[in-house]
Amino acid sequence: MWITLTTNRLNIKMEKNKNLTGGCICGQVKYTITEKPLFTQACHCKDCKIITGSSYVINTSVLDNTLIIEGNISSTELKTGSGATSKAYFCNKCGTYIYTDYATAVGRSTVRTKTLDNSENFPPEAHIFTKNKDPWLKLTDGANCFEKMYDLKNTWPKESYERYKNYLKNNKR
Ligand SMILES: [Zn+2]
Ligand SMILES: [Zn+2]
Repeated sequence: MWITLTTNRLNIKMEKNKNLTGGCICGQVKYTITEKPLFTQACHCKDCKIITGSSYVINTSVLDNTLIIEGNISSTELKTGSGATSKAYFCNKCGTYIYTDYATAVGRSTVRTKTLDNSENFPPEAHIFTKNKDPWLKLTDGANCFEKMYDLKNTWPKESYERYKNYLKNNKR
């Protein structure tokens, strides 16, 4: 089922210079990320294969108050492998999957990295669910691989982890 969403992200003030921008393939949805993203990762799980129609997805995690969406988006609720829910957001004209809010990722939004205008600047810092990686796909030797998931504290850059923890502390929900 598709639900039209009224977004409350439009009212947030942006800082023009250091913003990242992105959008959908038809141009109806544009977005801005107003602060440095926290972490970028590739997921090789079976759900991500189906959703992308490809071998893996690349996702960039941002603080949820730093993502500003312009345009009309639709959302649908999905179940993740662990049984938790996630909300997927799409352009309601062309269907480009823009971002996800995972129930387990409190205070964060997960942007589809390849919808960023300069997505080449955000290579995966980790590969997760490599137990489901396509056998013909070879990752470079230095790739940071995890059979399933990892522990945030030990994997994210210290700066990102602390910025996220502080954000949660200061924005109790
Ligand atoms: Zn579109
Ligand atoms: Zn996945």
